[in-house]
Amino acid sequence: MGIKKCSVCNMRCIGRIFRFPKDSATKNMWLEALNMSRSDITESSYICENHFRSQDILKLAGKHHLRVDAVPSLHINQPGSSATITAENSITLTGDRNL
Ligand SMILES: [Zn+2]
Repeated sequence: MGIKKCSVCNMRCIGRIFRFPKDSATKNMWLEALNMSRSDITESSYICENHFRSQDILKLAGKHHLRVDAVPSLHINQPGSSATITAENSITLTGDRNL
């Protein structure tokens, strides 16, 4: 058995590690979220729990499972990404409204 390595961190992860989904639609969603293509992963590609929100991981009968609709969303490498989080606080105060 080889070492399970996270395809995103590209290193051996200490935490829980999950296999890519078999379902191709879900797999495509993952690949899109991870900025990866099908050729980047193999049958033995894994991704560690660091990339999932805690609510995406379910504990069933003492084992950890990913929700079927879980998509990795955290700590993702985005090479050349221009996407920046812009917090647009458009809070409109409507306190003094005379009707
Ligand atoms: Zn990872």
